[in-house]
Amino acid sequence: MSDRPDPSRRLLVGGLTTGVAAALGAAGLGGRDARAATPAAPNPATEYPKPPFQDQEQPWPGLASRMNPRPDHGETSYKGSERLAGRRALLTGADSGIGRAAAIAFAREGADVAFNYLPQEEEDAREVVDLIRKAGRKAVPLPGDIRNKAFCRKLVADAARELGGLDILVNNAVYQKAANSIDEISDEDFEQTFTTNVYAMFWITKAALAHLQPGSAIVNTSSVNAYEPGESLIDYAATKAAIANFSKGLAKQLAPKGIRVNAVAPGPIWTPLQVSGGKLPHTLPHFGADTPMGRPGQPAELAGIYVLLASNEASYSTGQVFGAVGGRGGP
Ligand code: NAD
Ligand code: MG
Repeated sequence: MSDRPDPSRRLLVGGLTTGVAAALGAAGLGGRDARAATPAAPNPATEYPKPPFQDQEQPWPGLASRMNPRPDHGETSYKGSERLAGRRALLTGADSGIGRAAAIAFAREGADVAFNYLPQEEEDAREVVDLIRKAGRKAVPLPGDIRNKAFCRKLVADAARELGGLDILVNNAVYQKAANSIDEISDEDFEQTFTTNVYAMFWITKAALAHLQPGSAIVNTSSVNAYEPGESLIDYAATKAAIANFSKGLAKQLAPKGIRVNAVAPGPIWTPLQVSGGKLPHTLPHFGADTPMGRPGQPAELAGIYVLLASNEASYSTGQVFGAVGGRGGP
């Protein structure tokens, strides 16, 4: 994809800069510290695809592999450093989008990964299985519909059995359907939104707590909509507020047990959710344009937050909501 960041190009530019610095030597730089010639960090304002995007629509739940441009989940860029060595993680909605970016990062940080997705998403899920295995970790794909309470319990039991326990839980799956007016939200859609986003989180978390030991971490995906509900997403936004609130309350309950609970609140992120009913028709071309960054985030840009919250490095952070909104957001 021409407008996607090309890590090999970045390396080349970096290599050239280093080469020029070496050729010039300290004297050639007018006595300036040679470190001044090291390549700058990638510029987040220019590094990733920007609007306008091609208008595109897919049937729900959508596939990352059919998006243009394809989302960047960190497939070619994320580098691990043993920050989750030997940990065992279960994630929902990790075939695509933010969940996939977290799954790739967790595996490259040394964790074994079980993940849930819908059977319609097998094509995306196969790619994630390959990526986890290429990282040298165990991948446990567990397809199924989390609107079913019995399935949620089985999902946790299967994950814990296959991984030999559980240390990290990421509740990330979601249903989001945009509607112009409350009159257009059917009872069925309202129920699907709350069952997927809130009830399933409750069922899965409750079942997982039977396995989580001190030092374990739960990371839930909330949204900027928890603080600033979009007028076309009132049911979805209410679930995201519930998720943030649930995370804060549960964090207090579990702190004495040494289990941390945090949430991530993304802003507009380039994922299948947005091309399969999550946005009002024909609003996609300008997705993310109204952020100070002037573009949507890519899933890869959130992976580090999930790693941090899952790892012991954030051992004093619990009950927090971490934003990634391109310059907006926060309570
Ligand atoms: P995504 O479409 O890649 O992921 C959502 C996943 O939810 C799907 O892949 C699917 O596997 C899963 N799912 C939906 N219904 C399910 C069901 N009944 N049973 C099992 N799985 C089901 O989109 P994403 O944007 O990466 O979403 C991940 C999280 O990020 C969600 O919690 C979403 O609310 C949050 N988020 C996204 C944005 C954004 O702009 N993309 C903004 C704020 C928050
Ligand atoms: Mg998906």
